Amino acid sequence: MRYIFVTGGVVSSLGKGIVTSSLGAILRGRGYRVTALKIDPYVNIDAGTMRPYEHGEVFVTADGAETDLDIGHYERFLDRDLARINNVTTGQVYLSVIQKERRGDYLSQTVQVIPHVTDEIKERIRRVGREQNAEIVIVEVGGTVGDIESLPFLEAIRQMRFDAGPENTLYLHLTLVPYLRTSEEFKTKPTQHSVATLRSVGIQPDIIVLRSEKDLPEEVKRKVALFTNVEAGSVFTSYDVRFLYEVPLVLEEQGLGKRVEAGLGLEPVIPNLGVWREAVEVLKNPERRVRVAIAGKYVKMPDAYLSLLEALRHGGLKNRAAVEIAWVDVEKLKAEDDLAEAFAGVDAILVPGGFGVRGIEGKIKAARYAREKGIPYLGICLGMQVAVIEFARHVAGLERANSTEFDPYTPHPVIDLMPEQLEVEGLGGTMRLGDWPMRIRPGTLLARVYGGQELVFERHRHRYEVNPDYVPRLEEAGLVISGVTPGREGRGEGLVEAIELPDHPFFLGVQSHPEFKSRPMRPSPPFVAFVEAALAYQDRRRLLAGGA
Ligand code: GLN
Repeated sequence: MRYIFVTGGVVSSLGKGIVTSSLGAILRGRGYRVTALKIDPYVNIDAGTMRPYEHGEVFVTADGAETDLDIGHYERFLDRDLARINNVTTGQVYLSVIQKERRGDYLSQTVQVIPHVTDEIKERIRRVGREQNAEIVIVEVGGTVGDIESLPFLEAIRQMRFDAGPENTLYLHLTLVPYLRTSEEFKTKPTQHSVATLRSVGIQPDIIVLRSEKDLPEEVKRKVALFTNVEAGSVFTSYDVRFLYEVPLVLEEQGLGKRVEAGLGLEPVIPNLGVWREAVEVLKNPERRVRVAIAGKYVKMPDAYLSLLEALRHGGLKNRAAVEIAWVDVEKLKAEDDLAEAFAGVDAILVPGGFGVRGIEGKIKAARYAREKGIPYLGICLGMQVAVIEFARHVAGLERANSTEFDPYTPHPVIDLMPEQLEVEGLGGTMRLGDWPMRIRPGTLLARVYGGQELVFERHRHRYEVNPDYVPRLEEAGLVISGVTPGREGRGEGLVEAIELPDHPFFLGVQSHPEFKSRPMRPSPPFVAFVEAALAYQDRRRLLAGGA
């Protein structure tokens, strides 16, 4: 087993996850079995209970873990499913050590950060490689060096060079090189300090990646090498690019892959990075453009919808089209005019997942607008629930229909908690999470979307369901239930997984989050079909405009 440890310095939000993922793509492109794990030094057990406004989206794995969004990047760049064990937090580590202590596993010993906590960390890293049958494990340590909370993790990865052998370990440090416009200079001093801090905990980086606005001149890289004791040729630049998928190409071009091969004693291989080249080619020269409105709450924080944006991009790639996003703040959708204005010129409307009552009426209005105007609509999770509420109120005649999440006293709880959720205590990790099957009704839009497959798995993250008591009335009024959960031990047979409208060009709601499974090389079917529908709508719109 070989390990590459990625640390970061100077500032946070450098895109360490992207660099880690890109490194993975470069190695994966060489045919290695690669996996990656993220260490998050916060005390939360997982990302599920944290605000998307601060940390970005909560990424859900197939086995139902609520993880950091970087796990999503890893899955997309490595093209492999990851799991709960790929996201380690301080909370998990300490919980486990304390439980072991109570059980008596450390009997007679004084339980300490070194070695007990560090051993626990190392075992969690090794376990990922073992269980996921990897040849190379990339370990990203969250936060920046010098943070108090990352110290035990840095000590653990320091020890791993001793355990696994220097020939099997590499330390990559990512820092920022700011550009000072007034003096027209790149500044390397923060990098020198950051490496010094890393060295003070006993880690000498083998490779340095510098984040900067522009490609850095050779002399800057040489200077960094000289002052940080890194070999010349081991300093790389990850400069700003327009598209995420350029990063593996940029790093490979500079020889990062070769450097890693040399460092880990791997045979030199010519990598196959075709997927990324092709994706970048389409992104830079799309044949067409579509405008998709995302009607949500976190319109100023695109990271809160990261996988969704990626899935739309993948849907675009498949159609050789660029997808532009029109962010629509649902709290501003009040009068009819607001809707016409917000959705002017858009080719499709998407209502994403979400929690809480804020903005809910705006989302319902957006769904209504799409239904009435024949605009392609994709409702994801909450986006499906609001479409059902909207349909119940305005088509099925169920006045004040709502979800009990937003109105506990609604006369028509068309969206409600199922018995299994009523029993739940606590909010951490208690939703309906991870992969669940969906049986698709033949002859529906959904069946077309999934290419005739009858059973598919998508990832979930929700508490509320379409209330089965209302299904007959909704169906009578014309709503088509095109996907259901097949019966399972202890689970309700036929929970609604997808809805659609038959007399509409494309109106689809899914209870799952198909965006989590979407990858550039494996775009999610609902997103491909949605972009296709947006293109068709655009054609129709132009035709009508031209004919008038
Ligand atoms: N709040 C809704 C529920 O819990 C929808 C969740 C979501 O969109 N992820 O069921």
